[in-house]
Amino acid sequence: MILVLNKDITKDQKGHIRNTLQDKGCFVREAEDAGRNIIGALGKSNLDVAFLKSLPGVEAITPITTPFKLASRQWHSADTLAPIGNVLVGGERIVIVAGPCAVESLDQALTIAREVKRYGAVVFRGGAFKPRTSPYSFQGLEEDGLKILAEVREQTGLPVVTEITSVAQADVMMKYVDAVQVGARNMQNFELLKCVGRMGKTVVLKRGLAATIEEWLMSAEYIMSEGNDRIILCERGIRTFEPYTRNTLDLSAIPVLKKLTHLPVMIDPSHATGIREKVSPMARAAIAAGADALMIEVHHDPDHALSDGPQSLYPKQFGQLTRDIYVIAPVVGKQLDFDYLDKAASTAKWQDTNGHSPQRIAFLGELGTFSHKASLQYFGELMDAAPKLNFRSIFEAVKSGEAAYAVIPLENSLSGSIHENYDLLLEYDLEIVGEITLRIVHYLIGCPGTRLEDIQRVISAGPAVQQCRQFLDRFPDWKIVTVNATASAVREINSSEGSSDAAIGSKEAADIFGMDVIEEGIETNPMNFTRFAVIAAGPGSRKAARKSSLVYSVGNQPGALYETLKIFQENHINLVKLESRPIHGRPWQYMFYADLEADVRSTEFSPILNDLKSKTDFLKVLGSY
Ligand code: PEP
Ligand code: MN
Repeated sequence: MILVLNKDITKDQKGHIRNTLQDKGCFVREAEDAGRNIIGALGKSNLDVAFLKSLPGVEAITPITTPFKLASRQWHSADTLAPIGNVLVGGERIVIVAGPCAVESLDQALTIAREVKRYGAVVFRGGAFKPRTSPYSFQGLEEDGLKILAEVREQTGLPVVTEITSVAQADVMMKYVDAVQVGARNMQNFELLKCVGRMGKTVVLKRGLAATIEEWLMSAEYIMSEGNDRIILCERGIRTFEPYTRNTLDLSAIPVLKKLTHLPVMIDPSHATGIREKVSPMARAAIAAGADALMIEVHHDPDHALSDGPQSLYPKQFGQLTRDIYVIAPVVGKQLDFDYLDKAASTAKWQDTNGHSPQRIAFLGELGTFSHKASLQYFGELMDAAPKLNFRSIFEAVKSGEAAYAVIPLENSLSGSIHENYDLLLEYDLEIVGEITLRIVHYLIGCPGTRLEDIQRVISAGPAVQQCRQFLDRFPDWKIVTVNATASAVREINSSEGSSDAAIGSKEAADIFGMDVIEEGIETNPMNFTRFAVIAAGPGSRKAARKSSLVYSVGNQPGALYETLKIFQENHINLVKLESRPIHGRPWQYMFYADLEADVRSTEFSPILNDLKSKTDFLKVLGSY
């Protein structure tokens, strides 16, 4: 049972409610959910609803209809983020955990850790206490294995996770690792569940070999009831009658869990299939189905692995898999970030030197815009959102130092360039330090109950309207009103009376404002992507850049532009974008914006840059990233 409290409840009233519930034998939990203060009365099913509702300070009573309570979406509606070191599982970015089945030696663990890190893993796994089917099989290096894991973290910066098989290991686990795993065979070892609940470290809770989803969530409830809500549910295949694969991967568990619980979902296709060549297809499917994270067994010499060699990927295969995931993730609204750990480290450093204040990131509009989503996917959930009303104030915020970075849209694959930002990049002395591409899916959003036939007016941002042109053309009577950001449009219909207004915006915006989705995917073509640039006051990381942006103008003589392009051709430099913009105040003269696949700040590029300067009237490097 959830008791929703009045906003102005007094301390005494709250104390009285807590005592009353405790007297009735309830476990009492207080929390905040979706801006509401709530108290959970857990463990008793025969409570008198009318009586509870009559308690001073209680606004409403809502039942939790599932046997798992704290793990349910009814108790906590937003997604929970579970930290492993600096990595957050469950947010906008896919987390990949990789490593060998078992830690065999420092050399083996370090070799594999370096490989998987290079290919995009952000957490290292490796068993030190191995629950083996046979007592004669390798049982793990035990505490020495944990020490190796700590050394791997020290040398690579990868946080580490390992399996805990007994309550007696709690102290050494606390000492050496970032997260603990409760293995499939221990999913219903209730003493161990209570123990990891008390430890407070993030728990990767594997699904039991023959456990139902409900039993699995009840195990999560055990951990949560001890006060630890840092849990990642890991599906690793269940026993079925099918002997061809080691287990059967229950992919449908992903959407089922997403509905039932707020806890993040990880998929382990290695133990699920037991066969190397089946691992990558299942991993790709898992991401497409909405998994937050993957756990993959990788070994540099699987033929000699002490356990699970046949299901371990070679590092190269793992690298191919992460490249695939990088492409798939945006299709389902997520991102695989190959710079995750570097960004996390610089965020942590920033917070240390700035008294734990998170980095401020400026973007257009308000929470729930695509720019906000792009910012979250680039900087992670710990960023401090600084929404701005227009693009110029975004540039001003970065210039003045009010924001450390900004995320601005540059072009969309359906509606083209956002010209204003190209002009502002020229005007301001800021640098492009990164980029991120988002798939844009538009929703027609209305107040609850609004039907398509009720609509008379549609509000959205200009580019969104353009991207939905074909859909809007089906309703020529609709009046179209543009505002500066999609989320502002959703806010506007939220506060407007009547149900003849609709907005075009993101699913996130519909959720934030509690609006209904009337139509889904109304963009003219599903291949609808927006590329955002990340800008800062100074140059980005010193790491070799893959891409650079330049802006230049050339004289008004025949072949002047060609002369510059020839330089790229002769030096085998791939030009990925060329855009011209009128020069303000000089009619019929143009600036050329070029994106190159090269690091123009590198020493090798310096003669090319000089050559380019000699063939242009004006040249500015906008950034290398
Ligand atoms: C493991 O991850 O090494 C492991 C033993 O997994 P499971 O508990 O899923 O069998
Ligand atoms: Mn294994």
